[in-house]
Amino acid sequence: MDIAPYEDETHYKENTMSKKALIVEDESNIVELIRLHLEKDGFEVYSADNGARGIAEAERVNPDIILLDIMLPVLDGWQVLREIRMTSKTPIIMLTAKGETPDKIHGLESGADDYITKPFDSRELVARVHAVLRRFEGGEERAKRLEFDKLVIDMDSFELMIDGKRVDAPPKEMELIYHLASSPNRVYTRNQLLDEVWGFDYFGDSRTVDVHIKRLREKLEGVSDKWSLKTVWGVGYKFETVE
Ligand code: CA
Repeated sequence: MDIAPYEDETHYKENTMSKKALIVEDESNIVELIRLHLEKDGFEVYSADNGARGIAEAERVNPDIILLDIMLPVLDGWQVLREIRMTSKTPIIMLTAKGETPDKIHGLESGADDYITKPFDSRELVARVHAVLRRFEGGEERAKRLEFDKLVIDMDSFELMIDGKRVDAPPKEMELIYHLASSPNRVYTRNQLLDEVWGFDYFGDSRTVDVHIKRLREKLEGVSDKWSLKTVWGVGYKFETVE
């Protein structure tokens, strides 16, 4: 297959520190928009305008992240995704148009890491790219054990210690309290928690979050006056700490 490297490529200094992003998208204005923002953010950007080129570029470039459109000539985004996933775990963000909803992604058990709906806000796009990369690379380095007054959340052993005693908590409750307590006093909406704890392809509604919060409360209420699991009315939840 004839794959010409992107013209701009020669303009980049050889810099082993910069991350490589591959955009697989046939609409050139979208490619250029993403390119602009990712380059400004220090990425080395490659692109391919059909599915087959996308697969070839993914092999040639070995990108750190791939932004993959669904409606593509030659091979569509789903086929490209499946093909790449056979050999690589490279994080992939799907670019979906309105109507190509995440349920479709869910139904296909796609192996994508995130999705973003077009038209998108460029800051949101860059933020998503960073979030996916952090999740992919930082998984091992993040503090896996959080300690507060009379509370230890240990994600290595999946143990919840309350006042020195081990308390049984199912994995999703562990992940939820860990997520909230990782950023004390930050308010999360139910949808954010669904997205970040259950994953974007989770097929459920926000009551799932409420149910898990309720069960956590039953374990955590009254344990300490230094922290608490708070409802922020009309918004969501936070793990509140006091001095
Ligand atoms: Ca397209």
